[in-house]
Parts: sequence; C-alpha cells; structure tokens
Amino acid sequence: MNCLTAHSPSDKGAVRNGRPLLRERGQHEVFCGLTGIIWLHRKIQDAFFLIVGSRTCAHLMQSAAGVMIFAEPRFGTAVIEERDLAGLADMHGELNRVVENLLDRRPDIRLLFLVGSCPSEVIKLDLERAAEHLSRAYAPDVRVLAYSGSGIETTFTQGEDACLASLVPVLPQEPDTADRSLLVVGTLPDVVEDQFLRLFTALGIEPVRFLPPRRSTDLPAVGPQTSFLLAQPFLDGTVRALEKRGAQRLAAPFPLGAEGTTAWLAAAAAAWGIDPERFQQATELGKKRAERALERYRDRLAGKRVFFFPDSQLEVPLARFLANELSVDLVEVGTPYFHQDYLAPEVDLLPPDVTLSEGQHVDKQLERCRAARPDLVVCGLGLANPLEAEGLTTKWSIELVFSPIQGYEQAGDLAELFAQPLDRRQRLGV
Ligand code: SF4
Repeated sequence: MNCLTAHSPSDKGAVRNGRPLLRERGQHEVFCGLTGIIWLHRKIQDAFFLIVGSRTCAHLMQSAAGVMIFAEPRFGTAVIEERDLAGLADMHGELNRVVENLLDRRPDIRLLFLVGSCPSEVIKLDLERAAEHLSRAYAPDVRVLAYSGSGIETTFTQGEDACLASLVPVLPQEPDTADRSLLVVGTLPDVVEDQFLRLFTALGIEPVRFLPPRRSTDLPAVGPQTSFLLAQPFLDGTVRALEKRGAQRLAAPFPLGAEGTTAWLAAAAAAWGIDPERFQQATELGKKRAERALERYRDRLAGKRVFFFPDSQLEVPLARFLANELSVDLVEVGTPYFHQDYLAPEVDLLPPDVTLSEGQHVDKQLERCRAARPDLVVCGLGLANPLEAEGLTTKWSIELVFSPIQGYEQAGDLAELFAQPLDRRQRLGV
C-alpha cells in the first residue's frame, strides 16, 4: 500500500547531533502499520490480531504475509462493508459477534488485539471502548486491547510501536521491594532472545525480561526499578509509555554487528556496574565470532556505494554497521523520522561526511539517487521494482525487519542480506 501525502518543502539547514540533516516533506512511499502484525503474531504465541478494516486491508495482509500463512493464522480481518461505512449498521454489535465467533473457535487465544485501520478511523469506530467492554466480558480468560495500524502518516514499523504501547498500561507493577531489572524492548526472534539472555547471565545482569513476551501470560512487571534497552529504534510511543510507568531507558547504539552488539551490552553493563574484565570475558568469544563472520563479506561489500531510502526506521543503525564493519561507502541515509534521543549514540559512530535525510520528497530523492548511481539501494517494495528496471540493484528494507539480524551470531547473516542482491546482479551480468 502506498500512501502519498503532500507537505512543505525541503529544509536543508537542519542540524542533528551537530551534523547537517536534510529534512524533506513531500510525497512519500510507505507501507502501513498493519504490516507489523506479520512479525508480532509469530512472537506472541497466544495472541490474535483482529484487523477492523476493509477488503483492501485484508488483501494487503494476505499478500504481505502470503508466504507465512499456515493452517491457523493468528490474524484476520473483520471487514467493514459499505453499509457500515455509510453508518447503516450497528458496527459495535457486529464486532461483538465476530469476536464471539472467533473466541468460540479459538480457545487458545488469551490476548486479542483489535487493530484499527483507515476505514475504522474514518467512521470513528471507538475500538478502545470496544476493547474495554470486550475485556470485561471475557475476563479472566481473554484480555482485549486496541491499537491503530492505520496507514495515514505512518511507517510500517510504527504498527509494532502502537501494539507495544497498548500493552504497557496492562503490564504488572513491580513490587515495592523489587530488585533492579532489565527489560529488552522490541520484537526479537526467540533464538536471538535466548542468545542475549545467555550473554546477560554471563555478565551477571538479571532478571532480564522481554517486551513483547512469548506468551501474554508472561507480561513483564515494570516500575522505577526497571531499566530498559531498546532492541529497535522505532518505539517512541512505547518508550514514552514505559517512562510514564517510572522505567528508565539506557541510551545505546542498536545491537547490529559486532560493534553495535558490544556497545548495546556495554550500556547495560555500565548501568549495572559490571567489572570491565568480566565484560571482556563474557563478550570476547561472541565478538570474535561476529568479526570472523564479517571478514568473509568485507571483500564483497567494501567500497560499495549504498543509498538508503526512508522506510523501516532501521536505516541509521544499518548504515553505521555497513560503514564501520564492512567499509561500505554511504551515499545518503534517509530515515522517516530522526529520533534524536534514540539515534544520537548511532550518529556519534557514523563517518563524519555521511548525508543524513529525514522524511521524504520521493521525486527529489529519486533524482539524487539516479544521479549518484549507487551500487545498492535499500528501499521499500514500491520503489524497488522501478529502480531495478532502471538497472539499479535494490534490497527490500522490510526483509531486514523480518529477519533475525541482531546480536553477534547474526552479524554474518546481516552482511549476507546486503551481499546477496549485489551477487545476484553480478551473476546476471547486468
Ligand atoms: S490500514 Fe489503511 S493503508 Fe493500511 S491497508 Fe488498510 S486502508 Fe490501506
């Protein structure tokens, strides 16, 4: 789904972290926040995501998740028909019936998200109120929450942010006597979570919990004794909700590559006052494995010129990884939003001459990209095909969100994701 919107023109004078930042507002190409359901429904194993939307929303989800649909997917769409849009039907009554049928059929569901869409927002369907009412009706077996996955003015990763932010108010309060705890915030594949847990244990940091949890019955407690590390940079709403509960964010780069993972772990180690020698012992082997894995890709990627279009909000950490660990030459690093607070530690690590841009005026950015003729363009699905047709090599940024890329053990796989399209282009000899 491409949502195109017009705004004010470029602002070339903006500065972030002492660096020039090109801010653009114009037509932009994005996927909507419903897309987050694709990875969220695989993570929270007893949750169901009920999109309250149109047939377009259902089609988007089916094509985006096409390869991943199995016998009983944990998401579906309650389709708003035309007569509903015209206000001719009792939408709340219909929604109640859909939920009743669903919960009868699927007694394994413990957490139900009502996911708002453009159509549900247009008809001003109050899904929060509906969720409160349904939660009361199905308590204590099923909790019902609501959030918006609407495509207006969002990026596709904001769906995860809205989902996690909706969970924060129902997280248990940590007891007054609680010891300090660490919360890792942002969806990570289970295998990556397990690796991080082993590293934190080796560092002597515990208890460590994850948001979202694998099961809704394992919601982590939060409060003033909770420090949290972001595993993803696109969780602004969740951060604000956690801070409101008294939790404190630990500033750190994101755990991509050997450098990012070490710095991310070091932020927690510093907050826990871990001895540098212990830190070295706990991280040395993993770091070396990551560096060895990356060596294999350096020849293939060093000196390649990469252009990032704004899409996933992961662009700045990915660019830092490519530049510092694989000697990639960054042409432009575009990101939909430049969250100064979360990205400052990343920007500090970027090479000094990188062009950073925030927002999008797609035509102007395409012009810059065509003029630069980069070796690889990282962009959304909507731009990839036309750019490939023009002879440019592309990487879908959404793939980088679906794939396990965080941590030492995934550093080589992350490099592979960038090397693949370049190899393919070389094999095709075009
Ligand atoms: S939520 Fe909006 S942008 Fe997303 S698929 Fe539905 S109508 Fe399209």
